[in-house]
Amino acid sequence: MLEVNGLKTYYGKIQAVKGVSLTVKQGEIVALLGANGAGKSTILKTISGLIRPSEGSVSFGGENITTTDAHAIVEKGLIHVPEGRRVFAALTVTENLELGAFTKKGAKSKTAQKIAMVFDMFPRLAERHKQMAGTLSGGEQQMLAIGRALMAEPKLLMLDEPSMGLAPIIVIEIMKIIKNINEQNKTTILLVEQNAKAALKLAHRGYVLETGNITMEESSEALRSNDNIVKAYLGAH
Ligand code: ATP
Repeated sequence: MLEVNGLKTYYGKIQAVKGVSLTVKQGEIVALLGANGAGKSTILKTISGLIRPSEGSVSFGGENITTTDAHAIVEKGLIHVPEGRRVFAALTVTENLELGAFTKKGAKSKTAQKIAMVFDMFPRLAERHKQMAGTLSGGEQQMLAIGRALMAEPKLLMLDEPSMGLAPIIVIEIMKIIKNINEQNKTTILLVEQNAKAALKLAHRGYVLETGNITMEESSEALRSNDNIVKAYLGAH
């Protein structure tokens, strides 16, 4: 479904991504793991058209989208939930969800139905539907950011560090929901995480990124039982 080949991305003279290739097949949850500054967010931003690579290609559903506009990429069903859960603080939960639906043509009539689906998946959001998003807890804001992405009916959902800054019990809740989205909605997921332990519990496969290069690609079980991975990424969590 997603094929990234030889991707190189620079910020001015600094090379953040140094020739990354990865694939995500339909129906999979793939984890992209790596320490702070390894280039994970840059890879997602390059895939979703927010930054342009200097070399390499991105194809989605067999179509080359390397130079496609970010909004057109969204229309194709490739949805990116950026780091830091950017919700519209001064709008209610429901209004935030309505905004997530604006992209698809002719989908307005389906908006109410989709909001009901999101509330079904996130009962905490349903309870707080009239609340201003800015007053939600961090975990609830992350749920809202994911819920808003679901309103655009993603074929591939790219999540950038959904566990960031959240209490362990909320991380477990969010990870369960991500698994649900994959199983119930048949949505393919590319999950960027520093919390390797949480990510490898639900991912089918994982890539390890170190300073702009992929250094390992394995099944989640293989990564979990790899001593180097355990030492570098699993010990601290
Ligand atoms: P984190 O988990 O901390 O977000 P990451 O793996 O997502 O890390 P990136 O945010 O992709 O890493 O950053 C990769 C490298 O590119 C880092 O060295 C970072 O300092 C640099 N970088 C990121 N954004 C910019 C920018 N806008 N301008 C210059 N350098 C940048």
